[in-house]
Amino acid sequence: MTHYNIIGGGIAGASIGYHLISLGAKVTIYDREDSGQATNASAGIICPWISQRRNKKWYRLVTTGAKYYPDFIKTLEDETGLDTGYTRRGSISLFKNEEKLALGYNRISKKKDDSPEMGEVKIIPKEDINHFHPDLNNQYPGIFVEGGGQVKGRLLLHALKTAFLSKGGKWLTQEIPDDLDGYKIYTTGAWGRYQNSGPDIRHQRSEVLHFKVDSDVPVHTPVIMALGPIYIVEMDLNQFAIGTTHIDTDSFEAVPSKENYEYLRGLAERYFPDKKITDVEMLVGLKPYARDHLPFIGHVDDSVYVVNGLGATGLTAGPVIGREVARSLMGLDTELNLEDYNYV
Ligand SMILES: Cc1cc2nc3c(=O)[nH]c(=O)nc-3n(C[C@H](O)[C@H](O)[C@H](O)COP(=O)(O)OP(=O)(O)OC[C@H]3O[C@@H](n4cnc5c(N)ncnc54)[C@H](O)[C@@H]3O)c2cc1C
Repeated sequence: MTHYNIIGGGIAGASIGYHLISLGAKVTIYDREDSGQATNASAGIICPWISQRRNKKWYRLVTTGAKYYPDFIKTLEDETGLDTGYTRRGSISLFKNEEKLALGYNRISKKKDDSPEMGEVKIIPKEDINHFHPDLNNQYPGIFVEGGGQVKGRLLLHALKTAFLSKGGKWLTQEIPDDLDGYKIYTTGAWGRYQNSGPDIRHQRSEVLHFKVDSDVPVHTPVIMALGPIYIVEMDLNQFAIGTTHIDTDSFEAVPSKENYEYLRGLAERYFPDKKITDVEMLVGLKPYARDHLPFIGHVDDSVYVVNGLGATGLTAGPVIGREVARSLMGLDTELNLEDYNYV
């Protein structure tokens, strides 16, 4: 029987390992736990339908990923008894004015025909925003998508690792050994740019600020897709993460910068006016990208398989990629055509 060696234990590696071992394979995962691991810093928004990207292969991947989440999480939480932080309280995309709101509604609501898991899609006038998010700035109207959700990257990874170990997998916190023979699956994220012959991997450094809001109204809130590329996600009652900054870089340094802290702190104050805000932590993640911002999934030679370039939606796509890669390697049918993602 093939023994699968997975190099990299972020969402890509952990998910492939979990699905392979659930199908009866022998698997070892090597993970260095680099600081800057994207999965650890991720905001975990699972709401692909609101994106304006037009790449059909990417869209198929992330919407299949979102559809898989409820069953995947139920199985994983039942197997481990652990909480992954997966919730579906909807998402609200904010718009600057009524004209943009109408265009946005037209674009987003059309997608419901192919994706019933989006649930209800409705316009929220700005006066009603605080019914959903009591302390949020109510200057902007929004579009509510009932099926929008979130997952906590750290908790999900811990649950995957726990399930993987309980099924007999080996998880080694170390660099891949130089003399490792056999079948290798590289899921090394940003660090993949130096590790195999293809595909080309670049990365973006992204920072997120976690903070508490001194609120009198302890209610759970939907994900907020704010103006520009800004989002606000609940991490705990009255505790949120706001992000993100994007910097293309060659550096693997993952220390928060003062400049980005001040920028994100300023945004937090703007979105929660008149509230006392207390910092919790700043996280830095290195998001891996491949060509056209489309993940790469496939063989680069007979005994080397690569999954990388998960970009800004890797938590959404990670579990279904794990399922599909494991099924494909074990000779089973897949729902997605993985050839679409193998372009070396
Ligand atoms: C700030 C931020 C916010 C995000 N928000 C969202 C979101 O809202 N929704 C969403 O869907 N996605 C989001 N993402 C994207 C998502 O987190 C990433 O696409 C995904 O986590 C990438 O996973 P990965 O497993 O490919 O890489 P990583 O999680 O980076 O894991 C790679 C692992 O490989 C290990 N490694 C590397 N080289 C070696 C080696 N030689 N030997 C052993 N181990 C090695 C590293 O130590 C690391 O642990 C966000 C990302 C960031 C940074």
